[in-house]
Amino acid sequence: MNALKTLLRKQPQKWIKKRKFHMTASVLDHTRGPLTQFTEDEVMMKETVAKLAKEQIGPLVKKMEKEGKIDDGVLKQLFDNGLMGLEISSDYGGSSCNFMTTILAVEELAKVDGSVAALVDIHNTLVNSLIIKVGNEEQKAKYLPKLAQEFPGSFCLTEPGAGSDAFSLKTEAKKDGDHYIINGTKMWISNSDLAGVFLVFANANPSDGYRGITTFFVDRSMPGVSVGKPEDKLGIKASGTCMVHFENVRVPAENILGQFGHGYKYAAGFLNEGRIGIGAQMIGIAQGCLDATIPYTLERKQFGSDIFSFQSMQHQIAQVVTDLEAARLLVYNAARMVEAKQDFVKEAAMAKLVASETALKVTAKCIDFMGGVGFTTDFPQEKYFRDCKIGTIYEGTSNMQLSTIAKQIRKAYS
Ligand SMILES: Cc1cc2nc3c(=O)[nH]c(=O)nc-3n(C[C@H](O)[C@H](O)[C@H](O)COP(=O)(O)OP(=O)(O)OC[C@H]3O[C@@H](n4cnc5c(N)ncnc54)[C@H](O)[C@@H]3O)c2cc1C
Repeated sequence: MNALKTLLRKQPQKWIKKRKFHMTASVLDHTRGPLTQFTEDEVMMKETVAKLAKEQIGPLVKKMEKEGKIDDGVLKQLFDNGLMGLEISSDYGGSSCNFMTTILAVEELAKVDGSVAALVDIHNTLVNSLIIKVGNEEQKAKYLPKLAQEFPGSFCLTEPGAGSDAFSLKTEAKKDGDHYIINGTKMWISNSDLAGVFLVFANANPSDGYRGITTFFVDRSMPGVSVGKPEDKLGIKASGTCMVHFENVRVPAENILGQFGHGYKYAAGFLNEGRIGIGAQMIGIAQGCLDATIPYTLERKQFGSDIFSFQSMQHQIAQVVTDLEAARLLVYNAARMVEAKQDFVKEAAMAKLVASETALKVTAKCIDFMGGVGFTTDFPQEKYFRDCKIGTIYEGTSNMQLSTIAKQIRKAYS
């Protein structure tokens, strides 16, 4: 279960050197091989996570759903198995993995539970990733070991009045000597029930419009920080989504993450990567739902034969399996483009758009394939269906993905 961690502990230097070779090889191999070809490290993580999800998380899914929170033991397993610091360097206690590994881990978790996948995805692709790429050495040394081993983090951009139009945010950070005083309310903040640190997007120079938006590390323990009760949601019920209030929170200037006034660039840039993670969550949910459904269609008998035998059933099953494969390839392609350091804005938006709309279609069809039992909570299909609805909303709605894709098309043809 602890395969990756044990490996890191035993031979960290040798392993990392070997891994770097593999990462290079993975990019090169993909000029020749299929998108579903993985490096040894990627396969190892995929298999480790699949086993963890099936054996340790699966039995607790119903309990977490009912309680509306991630089980403490599950959270510990995520930390113990290196899943909360996937791309964090082993120098800071992380797993030193590549982006594709994160995508595969999120997909495997989502096959079993969309909420755990949301926790791992947002923590790794938005919070850790932003600190790894723009944090200074002191900030990395202070926060990355904790994020890899102790507590989740939250990405605090959305506000009650600023959703799709995120940069109209009203949270302010006023300079006060060598500190900033933060005031404002963030809404729909994932992982905020558990987070030890919040990456807060606040305007530190409103006269400069969105160019004043700056990112701050705000510790949960800082006076003036309060977290509301979790929202009662349609799906991913165990993923804690709360309002977070900042009332005269005094933050030292050294808590600015990256450059002053670059918050809007970080939010836009990192949400592009994050969207590929949501795509991975969606294809995982859809695959988990299919895996729970197809065996039933092979066993359930009507009119003297199994229901899979009816041609109209076969065609519908073939169609959704094909749609899912197409969505998966878009997600993997966008992930490989991140690794190859190519411009992936359009491909990330396409991956999220198609994966989330496909997951909705696949899970709805699976309920149909199950007949009446698919409509009950005794079977998992209805939960997969509810869990994937969030994919067309968070990290940019489907409309916003289409706008992003259209912008890129205009650019390419202008
Ligand atoms: C469960 C959950 C978890 C979340 N987690 C986080 C988190 O961790 N951190 C965070 O910062 N935020 C988070 N969010 C917020 C999420 O990103 C926003 O809800 C999302 O961006 C949409 O914003 P909104 O809800 O205000 O909808 P609105 O922006 O009000 O949109 C409503 C409708 O109008 C459409 N619309 C709006 N503008 C346009 C336009 N210009 N063109 C066409 N259509 C448009 C939208 O597509 C949508 O259909 C989360 C949300 C949820 C529900």
